Amino acid sequence: TDACLSAVDGAGALNAFVHHTPEIARQQAAAADRRLASGDAPAMCGIPVGIKDLFCTKGVPSQAASRILEGFRPEYESTVTQNLFDAGAVMLGKLNMDEFAMGSSNETSVYGNVVNPWKLDDRQLTPGGSSGGSAAAVAADLCLAATGTDTGGSIRQPAAFTGTVGLKPTYGRVSRWGTIAFASSLDQAGPMTKTVRDAAIMLGAMASVDPKDSTSADRPVPDYEAALTGDIRGKRIGIPREYRMDGMPVEIDALWKQGAEMLRDAGAEIVDISLPHTKYALPTYYVIAPAEASSNLARYDGVRYGRRARLSQGDGITEMYEKTRAEGFGHEVQRRVMIGTYVLSAGFYDAYYNRARKVRALIKRDFDQVFAQGIDTILTPATPSAAFPLGAMTDADPVQMYLNDVFTVTVNLAGLPGLAVPVGLDAQGLPLGLQLIGRPWDEGNLLNHGAVLE
Ligand code: GLN
Repeated sequence: TDACLSAVDGAGALNAFVHHTPEIARQQAAAADRRLASGDAPAMCGIPVGIKDLFCTKGVPSQAASRILEGFRPEYESTVTQNLFDAGAVMLGKLNMDEFAMGSSNETSVYGNVVNPWKLDDRQLTPGGSSGGSAAAVAADLCLAATGTDTGGSIRQPAAFTGTVGLKPTYGRVSRWGTIAFASSLDQAGPMTKTVRDAAIMLGAMASVDPKDSTSADRPVPDYEAALTGDIRGKRIGIPREYRMDGMPVEIDALWKQGAEMLRDAGAEIVDISLPHTKYALPTYYVIAPAEASSNLARYDGVRYGRRARLSQGDGITEMYEKTRAEGFGHEVQRRVMIGTYVLSAGFYDAYYNRARKVRALIKRDFDQVFAQGIDTILTPATPSAAFPLGAMTDADPVQMYLNDVFTVTVNLAGLPGLAVPVGLDAQGLPLGLQLIGRPWDEGNLLNHGAVLE
């Protein structure tokens, strides 16, 4: 803990930690020492971790990197952080992220962007987003692991951009209680770690059956570490042809082939598969996620939480809402609220939102069908490129930024587990990752495959 606290202090330039909690860390570390001394060593005893700012942590600022939550210190602890603390973990502080987890480059944060510890010559790169602070902190050895959340790729894309491991669990495996909501039918928290084994240990600590989240699954949490046998002989790995996108960099394609070879060498069978509705996934996601976000973010009205705008003489409640939300939300969040409100409005509900829900069901059915044909795990690229320079996409059409999620959103729409594993470096020496997609509740198997690739 002391070593991590001083590493955090020395790494201000990365802007990964936005709130430091050294007193809490020292207290928790001392408690972990006492537990160890008494022969009680839970899974994460004394392990220093960083917590994404999206998790409510009792008495500690929890702002989802938004101005609108300025001054908000929750009265309660999220289930995930409570589970981690019960397992002995030590919180070093809160980690930077895209505002309300909307973004792919960690450039929408009220705290400013995070810097990827990997560099391209002298150019600063994005760590990805929205869990960019988590990924950068793990990659720079500021903490041993971090929490992330993933609505459309926010764990897996930053993991791929920083050479770390990121797991988005099956929807319902990890409680969402106390995690600030973005799109409730897609959001899942998961571990971001240096190794697959660490991800297995941390998922076991984060996951629980939680009566406070009605979508948390009533299933016992298995021993994920015990699933890491290294044996994948006879497993059938699907390679979905629709993920071979036009204009995909040759390096990504080569890495994908290399990953398939590694799994084949370990005794798995490689099978070409088809997921025909893949091409509709991104537009479907960018209807459903903003729709849910516009509803979830309605609660930030200047009354119940955080910041209220200064009002002028004669302003009424409508002006109060308008000024508070105009000042409190950044541009990307405002864009999502506008899109979401539009697709849910009476005249357009059937044309957009209902249609997106139907396409979502077809995307899920594609996966159900390949799993029913005996495919165990699906291998795809994690991202369409390596980390890009900071600022490179901020002035572009927002759809360019959304394309980062092209390989990851399908997994959230179908509620499946997805794992990003670092597999190699590109010609410029930057990390590249592959994604493994599993059957529901099959995280152990997924992690076991991931260990073959890392
Ligand atoms: N980049 C995607 C978005 O902006 C995904 C974000 C996430 O997974 N939280 O919506």
